[in-house]
Amino acid sequence: MYDIVVVGAGPAGLTAAIYARRADKSVLVLERGTFGGQMTFSPKIENYPGFCQISGNELAEKLVEQALNLGAEIDMQEVMGIRRSDSGIFTVSCGEVDYMAKTVILATGSKHRLLGLEREEDFIGDGISFCAVCDGAFYAGKTVAVIGGGNSALQESIMLSDGCEKVYVVQNLDFLTGEEKLAAILRERENVEFIFGHTVEELLGSDTFGGIVIKDTRSGEKIRLDLDGMFVAIGQVPENEQYSNLVTLSDRGYIVSDENCLTDTEGLFVAGDCRTKNIRQISTACGDGATSALAACRFLDR
Ligand SMILES: Cc1cc2nc3c(=O)[nH]c(=O)nc-3n(C[C@H](O)[C@H](O)[C@H](O)COP(=O)(O)OP(=O)(O)OC[C@H]3O[C@@H](n4cnc5c(N)ncnc54)[C@H](O)[C@@H]3O)c2cc1C
Repeated sequence: MYDIVVVGAGPAGLTAAIYARRADKSVLVLERGTFGGQMTFSPKIENYPGFCQISGNELAEKLVEQALNLGAEIDMQEVMGIRRSDSGIFTVSCGEVDYMAKTVILATGSKHRLLGLEREEDFIGDGISFCAVCDGAFYAGKTVAVIGGGNSALQESIMLSDGCEKVYVVQNLDFLTGEEKLAAILRERENVEFIFGHTVEELLGSDTFGGIVIKDTRSGEKIRLDLDGMFVAIGQVPENEQYSNLVTLSDRGYIVSDENCLTDTEGLFVAGDCRTKNIRQISTACGDGATSALAACRFLDR
């Protein structure tokens, strides 16, 4: 039986593990994908305090190392559901194995939002990507489109324009929503073309991805873009359905909570991007990690 089981090894979950271990609680962190969470998709982080510039992977490695050095256990498992007994003990189910815990911290973050187009899932990893750091090298010398106009889309575009022959940035709005500093870098690059006010209507190609058809949101006019690859950066969506027996979800699927990181269920806490909040960033996820861990420790010591 663990004092605290943390679901998710992003910055929120790892920070929770660090604080909980420093309070001498036994801690297991369960992660189904990548240790470090979403930040591992970011080649360059320039707004995390203490580092003028650091890659997401490097920051993730440092956090994992810190949690492990303090004695946290970290395991690669996907949590399928959580039950709470009448005596208040949690069973965290990971398919073939169950873990028992006195408290649980949900730090499940969010995942990439899809465009919702026919055959989109078929082309993922084979023409459609969400990560220039991971897949950008496959498109060196080729033509790609980045869909989106926020910070993630701009970061992806900068990285891709270093190696690709041509990068289209397709944004549904008439303006970018990302930082001006990133936009200015892209405007200087001759191989980058912004297409505003267009949505992606159709994916082209039969066995292999061949491009997209985009539509002008005002005139309805359609344009065909022949592409080797497409990088989708239109935001994130949470995945919290499997905990709805214990927590309230907002209409967008986030776990309802405030800055205290408490949920409807005693002994169950929430941290990071998976909860209702205004700002979803690494620094705010770390803040939640600390808050939720200290709340769990207070609950255990009560
Ligand atoms: C491309 C990109 C660039 C970004 N750049 C920046 C930046 O420059 N600066 C900044 O501050 N923020 C940036 N962000 C946002 C930042 O990464 C997130 O706000 C932050 O990672 C949220 O942390 P988290 O721990 O709440 O969630 P996440 O990082 O999403 O981590 C949650 C973890 O939980 C795991 N998980 C989910 N469900 C389960 C389950 N059932 N079982 C086991 N594990 C599970 C996931 O696999 C994931 O690893 C960026 C995000 C992206 C996508």
